[in-house]
Amino acid sequence: MSTQETDQSIEDLHLQLGLLQTLDVGLIILDKSYRITQWNTFMENHSGVLHAELYNKVLFGAFPELSSSWLKHKIDSVFLLNNRSFITWEQKPYLLKFKSYRPLTSDAPYMYQNITLIPLSSPSGKIEHIGILVYDVTDAAMGRQALEVANTRLKQLSQTDLLTGLYNRGFWENCLQEEFQRFTRVDLTSSLLMIDIDHFKKVNDTYGHPAGDEVLRQLAKTLKDVTRLTDRVGRYGGEEFAILLLGTNATKATHVVKRLQERINSLTVTHYEHNINFTLSMGLTEISSKFENHEQWIHMADQALYKSKLNGRNQVTTLKA
Ligand code: GH3
Ligand code: MG
Ligand code: MG
Repeated sequence: MSTQETDQSIEDLHLQLGLLQTLDVGLIILDKSYRITQWNTFMENHSGVLHAELYNKVLFGAFPELSSSWLKHKIDSVFLLNNRSFITWEQKPYLLKFKSYRPLTSDAPYMYQNITLIPLSSPSGKIEHIGILVYDVTDAAMGRQALEVANTRLKQLSQTDLLTGLYNRGFWENCLQEEFQRFTRVDLTSSLLMIDIDHFKKVNDTYGHPAGDEVLRQLAKTLKDVTRLTDRVGRYGGEEFAILLLGTNATKATHVVKRLQERINSLTVTHYEHNINFTLSMGLTEISSKFENHEQWIHMADQALYKSKLNGRNQVTTLKA
């Protein structure tokens, strides 16, 4: 190499190092004994430790919080295989815990980082150093997390009746269908209870629609109270509710019905100056292998409910397939 060429390559190196210093990416260069040979401005700014303080120090000694075994293993394999290696924020949220300075994502607890480990070959072609690049991916990570929260919320909303907070009809019926299919595989008895408020139109006509809404809400709460967490309570229509009592035969289900009737008898819904009492007509049907599909199950429970209405309301009728 001529003197001119050497001058040129030193100048190039200076330019490159200058460039690396100003990058908005963290750069650490380590030798084979994990000693720090480069610690760029990004790393200085975020860690609060200067290059001069770290130069020639072993990374794991300088930052004991780095759990040395997994990172050493990663670094060693980069040296050995002469291959790049990546660590994403989903695998490990960060290499070193830095504060998040992003104004738009101020609720980020720390800087999320993607890490790339690259083998650096010397002029002789040997791998004597590795570079660790630290990318700030806080915005992307927070965006993804917000999206996941929104998706969960959206799924919940699509399954929920907004007035009562119970399952809406579509979702409830899916549950029933699933249970029916399960029954054809495992012979587990469940019961279906259909519920309709008696003379509900009168409640609306006498006290107003908002009062009627309050009755629906309080009934929904009572239905949740008297059932188990595993039961599926849904709003089937306007003032009609349906409960899938899982693993419960008709005899056991009548105990639930009794509890419910007692609670409704002693419930007075207060809406402004009005005290409102109401009763329920119900139809109960246990699952049966005679049903060809879940609709037939609903149909029979509905017929049972209709009988309760015909027989004078405020009662439960059980029909068996
Ligand atoms: P029955 O004893 O035969 O069941 O009589 P009913 O008055 O309860 O039955 P009907 O089907 O005649 O009336 C149901 C009423 O429920 C009419 C409708 O306005 C009311 N309704 C349906 N959805 C809502 C709602 O979300 N809020 C309120 N407040 N009322 C509702
Ligand atoms: Mg009705
Ligand atoms: Mg009614």
